[in-house]
Amino acid sequence: MSGSDLELSPTARARRRALASLARLAGTGAALPLIASLAASRARAQTGAPAPAAPTPAPPTRPAPQPGTRLVLLGTHGGPGIEQNRAETASAVVVDAVPYLVDCGYGSLRTLVGSTIGYQRLDTILLTHLHDDHTSDLPALLSHQWTGGAKRTPTDVYGPAGTAKLVAAALEFLRANVEIRTVDEGRTIDPATLFHGHDVAATASPTRVLADERVTVTAVESAHYPPRSTAKMSHRALAYRFDTKERSIVFTGDTAYSENIVSLAKGADLFVCECMAQSVYEQNLARAKEAEAAGNPVSVARHVAETHSTPGDVGRMAAKAKVKTVVLNHLLPGARQLGELDYALATFTDGVRAEFLGEVIVGQDLMVL
Ligand SMILES: [Zn+2]
Ligand SMILES: [Zn+2]
Repeated sequence: MSGSDLELSPTARARRRALASLARLAGTGAALPLIASLAASRARAQTGAPAPAAPTPAPPTRPAPQPGTRLVLLGTHGGPGIEQNRAETASAVVVDAVPYLVDCGYGSLRTLVGSTIGYQRLDTILLTHLHDDHTSDLPALLSHQWTGGAKRTPTDVYGPAGTAKLVAAALEFLRANVEIRTVDEGRTIDPATLFHGHDVAATASPTRVLADERVTVTAVESAHYPPRSTAKMSHRALAYRFDTKERSIVFTGDTAYSENIVSLAKGADLFVCECMAQSVYEQNLARAKEAEAAGNPVSVARHVAETHSTPGDVGRMAAKAKVKTVVLNHLLPGARQLGELDYALATFTDGVRAEFLGEVIVGQDLMVL
């Protein structure tokens, strides 16, 4: 941390880190002239000075793709809920400038744009499970990919059983828009030729989901739905592992402690894991007991307590899998309740560090690792 950083509030430090990360993601520094131009126009607005004559535009140049593998956290909010400070769950793995999206909760379309990844060149989406805090922006994303008009390559959406149906439903959501714009704007592309959903089997040991020249993705079933629920439904939840030339990155999705995930995550560079504070777990456990005593054994509180991970659970999985770095996301409590960020960091990290000796990072939206 620099000396000037020490004078900033935790929130200002977080914003500075996010901006620095964005500049690194842009690689070519393309984001920096935009920030400078915004600052200059704000300064003119304050002084009333006339705008300078527009310079002759430089010929357009396409920035060279930045090589390497990067993790971009797009949404780190825990659980379903809408707030200003964090988007619902979404992350991207960017390999040699090609993005792969993991989950697509509400707000991820905005943070995709904010991260400079954008949404038009996104061809691969993986859903860990079909809870709405992981899928809400999917219809909006596919819809805007079609309406944007520039997309010519397919978008493939992978996820557990029900994903193909979800994409078919998104096409149905799109239908009226497509009918109107086809008649009124002369559009010719049938969205059914662009958007494809794929159901992925939920297995105990790692199974290959996809492989291309940049990445291999494998999956296991996570421990987000207890046996009492999976006995009554076909829905399952998945964890994914990305292996590229340089790095391995594991996304647990939502889960309680899981031996399947330990086997998936063996030796991974980055272990991106959901996390609820120990106090959140204890509150929900107490509420679940009250609900059960009142005759309601299946409550939201029981779901939260039994099917998510405490910092200790995260640390035990990370230590047993011998991962290098833990990245906490899908954080409960969320940012709105956090108050002083530095205090909240310890509420997440202390429990992980009690079990795991490697690096622990508390995720924020637009963080690039
Ligand atoms: Zn969730
Ligand atoms: Zn969930």
